[in-house]
Amino acid sequence: MSGSNSVLSPQSSVLLGRRLVRAARGLGYRLGDLLAFCGPPVPAALCRPVRRSTWEVYDAHALLRGPGCPICCRADQDVQRMVFWFLLESYGEGPWIERLCATGGFCPAHFWALARTGARYQLSYVAQYLAEHDLRALGQVAARVARTRPRSPGTFAELIRSDRCPACRTWDESARRSVELLLRTLEDDTVRVLWRRSGGLCWPHLQLTVALADEAALPEVLEVERERFEALLQDGAADFEPRAAWLLAGWGSQ
Ligand SMILES: [Zn+2]
Ligand SMILES: [Zn+2]
Repeated sequence: MSGSNSVLSPQSSVLLGRRLVRAARGLGYRLGDLLAFCGPPVPAALCRPVRRSTWEVYDAHALLRGPGCPICCRADQDVQRMVFWFLLESYGEGPWIERLCATGGFCPAHFWALARTGARYQLSYVAQYLAEHDLRALGQVAARVARTRPRSPGTFAELIRSDRCPACRTWDESARRSVELLLRTLEDDTVRVLWRRSGGLCWPHLQLTVALADEAALPEVLEVERERFEALLQDGAADFEPRAAWLLAGWGSQ
């Protein structure tokens, strides 16, 4: 064996260093737990950070057991739940009518997903009130065009959509909640293990996670994701297909 094999690369040294720091921190917290149990004041450095509830940790475990990108998976479930209640009862309720008139209905992707459910009655009901709303808006704009010179952007105010597709908004809000949950629970050992074994964050959700991570969490997030890419390269053909799917579907499943 050559001497160079026994020398750690700079990357490995950094990883080893982080693991040692984490192990030392874990030991410190256990000592802090013991001191707290025995009664004496516990130094701040030995107190576990109070950043998460037990419920949140269990929720993070469930999140990371989903297939593919866990953030996309949870967001997809949340959108499906929204669609279920929308088609069951909300489509005809005042707040939803107001909301859909402001958004101009759904984006093409979510409209066609709704259309595939076969909910013709509900969708034709929505189309009717949207058409009435848009007809009214066109009438107001036409009247203003006829009497206003010179024209300003305000002339066409009724044609501007003031909100986004409700399903897209549900997706984004769900993704942000999930990323914040992961970051709050990252110090839980099981969360880190499940994250490494999960389908991996798609690129947009990796970007969101990096953007929301604080100074303490950011190195951990990057390390987990770097290990995933290294595993992809090292494993070769073994189990490549699902891993390649994760990589090639990098723009999420929305
Ligand atoms: Zn994703
Ligand atoms: Zn949408």
